[in-house]
Amino acid sequence: MAGVSDRQVVGTLHLLLLVAALPLAAREISGGVSTWTDEKNHHQPAILNSSSLQRVAEGTSIAEMWQNDLRPLLIERYPGSPGSFAARQHIMQRIQRLKAAWVLEVDTFLSQTPFGYRSFSNIISTLNPTAKRHLVLACHYDSKYFHQWDNRVFVGATDSAVPCAMMLELARALDQQLLSLTNVSDSRPDLSLQLIFFDGEEAFLHWSSEDSLYGSRHLAAKMASTPHPPGATNTNQLHGMDLFVLLDLIGAPNPAFPNYFLNSARWFYRLQEIERELHGLGLLKDHSSQRQYFQNYGYRGAIQDDHIPFLRRGVPVLYLMPFPFPEVWHTMDDNEENLDESAIDNLNKIIQVFVLEYLHL
Ligand SMILES: [Zn+2]
Repeated sequence: MAGVSDRQVVGTLHLLLLVAALPLAAREISGGVSTWTDEKNHHQPAILNSSSLQRVAEGTSIAEMWQNDLRPLLIERYPGSPGSFAARQHIMQRIQRLKAAWVLEVDTFLSQTPFGYRSFSNIISTLNPTAKRHLVLACHYDSKYFHQWDNRVFVGATDSAVPCAMMLELARALDQQLLSLTNVSDSRPDLSLQLIFFDGEEAFLHWSSEDSLYGSRHLAAKMASTPHPPGATNTNQLHGMDLFVLLDLIGAPNPAFPNYFLNSARWFYRLQEIERELHGLGLLKDHSSQRQYFQNYGYRGAIQDDHIPFLRRGVPVLYLMPFPFPEVWHTMDDNEENLDESAIDNLNKIIQVFVLEYLHL
């Protein structure tokens, strides 16, 4: 957007064109007062100091995550399978036992697939559902359907059991701080947190616009037609998404995350800075300052993933997807043995700090 001094010198016609090119939310500005849907564009993090970073690093436990969150997910769990049901129960039980008042919703629907109609279930877990704005963390909990070979089963450890477990560990480790969000006695907070676990990200056969992203396509369309805050007439649940942070293919050694989107670049730079600060304090394991996870290059190619249906509808996306993909991607070797515990633990710390800073906790 042009600065004020630039605007003063442009002609009326230019100014009109400029206004016409602004996104819808920004156009709602009237009389110098912006609407709530514009707040995400100006939102600033509350940066944590060293002792708070120390506390976050001490508060997260990779051992607990591994045992209690991750291992139960390392099963075959393609949509509609017994493992899918078990994974869903597991995710919901891990969230329900926490102190923070998460509101769980299961979004179940049928969709045509190459194998006929199948049932899918997204899990949406929200703190303060009536808050206007939510920071959203998302992953997919389904595993890709493969025929068994050599009596082995595809468990999709990086794809995406680890991201799901990281989100569960975040909710556990930050439970006390998140509890304060739901304990606001005077009024509801304007900004809160939502976790989405998508079903049916994977194609059953060959990736296409019809055979893939079943859960995210369904949920994005549904949220676009659901008024938000409740009773609103011209805003929907997608307006309420401040930033859609998608975690995928995480857990392999030496991940390198490019900066995918210009409109969320300032949040990507924040992740880089948090990584640097945690490293400087000696709080990251087996981590080199020469090779940061959050890299200084952009990747402008399009990767099809659960963010696409939201991106297309104008939701700002921060895409936490390593590129290149893990070597074990879509092979039977994407299993527990090939995970890098230190990298996952380090990323847990970075993302937990990011969330606290975003939510001013
Ligand atoms: Zn996959």
